[in-house]
Amino acid sequence: PSGARAPLATDPLEVLHRVFGYEAFRGAQAEVVDTVVAGGDALVLMPTGGGKSLCYQVPSLVRPGTGVVISPLIALMQDQVDALSALGVAAGFLNSTQRPDERAAVERAFLAGELDLLYLAPERLFVPSTMALLDRGTIALFAIDEAHCVSQWGHDFRPEYLQLSVLHERWLGVPRVALTATATHATRTEIVERLALHDARQVVASFDRPNITYRIVPKDNPRAQVLDLIRTEHAGDAGIVYCLSRASVEQTAEYLSAHGVPALPYHAGLDRAVRAANQSRFLREDGLVMVATIAFGMGIDKPDVRFVAHLDLPKSVEGYYQETGRAGRDGLPSTAWLAYGLQDVVQQRRLIDSSEGDAAHRRRLSAHLDAMLALCETVTCRRAQMLAYFGEESGPCGACDTCLEPPETWDGTVAAQKLLSAIVRLERERGQRFGAGHLIDVLLGKATPRVEQLGHRSLSVFGVGADLSDGEWRGVVRQLLAQGLVGVDGDGYGTLRTTPASADVLSGARTVALRRAPARATKPARSRRA
Ligand code: ADP
Ligand code: ZN
Repeated sequence: PSGARAPLATDPLEVLHRVFGYEAFRGAQAEVVDTVVAGGDALVLMPTGGGKSLCYQVPSLVRPGTGVVISPLIALMQDQVDALSALGVAAGFLNSTQRPDERAAVERAFLAGELDLLYLAPERLFVPSTMALLDRGTIALFAIDEAHCVSQWGHDFRPEYLQLSVLHERWLGVPRVALTATATHATRTEIVERLALHDARQVVASFDRPNITYRIVPKDNPRAQVLDLIRTEHAGDAGIVYCLSRASVEQTAEYLSAHGVPALPYHAGLDRAVRAANQSRFLREDGLVMVATIAFGMGIDKPDVRFVAHLDLPKSVEGYYQETGRAGRDGLPSTAWLAYGLQDVVQQRRLIDSSEGDAAHRRRLSAHLDAMLALCETVTCRRAQMLAYFGEESGPCGACDTCLEPPETWDGTVAAQKLLSAIVRLERERGQRFGAGHLIDVLLGKATPRVEQLGHRSLSVFGVGADLSDGEWRGVVRQLLAQGLVGVDGDGYGTLRTTPASADVLSGARTVALRRAPARATKPARSRRA
C-alpha cells in the first residue's frame, strides 16, 4: 500500500497523554490496549460510559495503518469524526448518508494512508467495492462496536453483523476488538461464537454504576409522577423519559412542556429532520428533557444526563441497564427511576404471547421479562440484584430504594387463593373469563353495573376480599403475574387465567410471599456512594 500513516507514537500512554489529554488508562482499558497493540484479539464488556472508545482509538494510533471501526450508529459518525478531528486525529466515515463526492474523498484519504480511523456502517462494509478498498489499504485493526448486535435474541439485532466473521477470514492477522455494554453470559458466548473470537482476550469491567441510584415506584399517574420527580429533585437538569409508545411520547412531552419543563419528543415515527434537530438540541443545550422511545439513546454521549425515567416497564434487565446507564456518565450523582404497575405486566405478557417467532423465542422473551419483573418486585438491594444478573457479586448498595426503605413482606397465600378461586369458579361454573378490574370488583363485593348484569353477586367469592383495598388487590395481582402464579391470555383484553403453578397455591402446598407497597413514594437522599 502507498503510504501507511506512520504511528504518532509507539507508546500507548504517550498517545493517551498527547492526543487525548488524559492522565492514565481507566480500569480495563490498559489491558485491552496492550492486547490489541500486540496484535491480539479482544472482547471488551464495559458498561456505557466505561470508556470503550479509547480501547480501539489508542491502538489505531499506535499501530501502523488505519483503525476500521464497524458501527451501526451512523447518526453519530459525524459527531465522532468531528470530536476526533478536534483532537488532531485524522478520521473519516463511510455510510449511506454521504454524497458520492464526500465518499470518494474519504476513500482517497484512506488509500493514501492519511486516516487514523475509518468508521464504517456494516452494510457499507459488505458492498464489494468497500471490501476491495480495504484490501488496498493498510488496516491497523478492526473494532466491532455494539457487538451485541450479532445476537439474534437481543434487543438490537442487526442481520449484517452475522456476516462480520468475514473480517477474520479475509484479513487474517489484523487484530479485532469487539466491544459491547451488554454483559450477560449468554450474549458473551454468542458474540464469541458468531464472530469467531475464541482466542480473544475477554476483558470484563465491573458493571456497577455507583453514582446512579435506582428507584422503582408503583405506577399511579406516571406523567404527574415524573413531573413531581423533576420538580422536586431534578429541576433544570437534563434527563431522558422513556415511554413504550409513540403516542405516549408525544403526550408526555406536551404534558411536561405545558407544565414548564422544557421537553422534546423523539421516536422513529417523527420526521428524520425533526429527530436529528431534537437530538442535537438535547446534546448541545442545557437542561432539556428528551421524551423518547428506546429508539433514542444508543451511543448518545451526553455526560450530564442527571436522570433517566421509565414510564413503562422495559422488556429486559439488559435493556433497563443500558437505558438507565445513559444517566451520569460524568460520574456525578444521578437517578434511575421507573414507574411500574399491573397494566405493564399484563401488556408485556400479552405482547409476548402475540409475538412472532417460535415457542423457543417466546420462552426467551418470557425469561427476559421475568428477570425484569423480579427486579421490580425484589425486597433486597436493586443494584446487587442487577449486578448478580450480570454475574457480578456485591453487597447491598445502601442507596437504592429497597436499601433505604426495605419493603415489608406479608403472607399473601390466602389472598392469592381468593383470586385464583374467583378465576377458577367463574371459568368452571359459568365459562367466563375476566380481566383484573372485574375480578377485583367481585372480590371487594362491589355492586358495579357489570357485577349486577352478570349476576356475580351470587358467587361464593363475592366480597371475600374486602379486607384489602382496591390498590392492594392490584398489587397482589401484579405480583402474582410477576411470579407466574397467574397468567394472562393473549386475547388483547388482559384476561386472567390460572397457570400450572396455580394449583399448588390453591391446594395450600405453596405459600406466597408478597411485597407490601411502600406507604409513600420513596424519595431517598442523593447517593451516599457517589
Ligand atoms: P463508552 O463508549 O464505553 O460508553 P466512552 O468511550 O464514550 O464510553 O467514554 C466515556 C467518557 O469517559 C468519555 O467522556 C471519555 O472521554 C471519558 N474517558 C474514557 N477513558 C478515559 C480515561 N482513561 N481518562 C479520563 N476520561 C476517560
Ligand atoms: Zn441497594
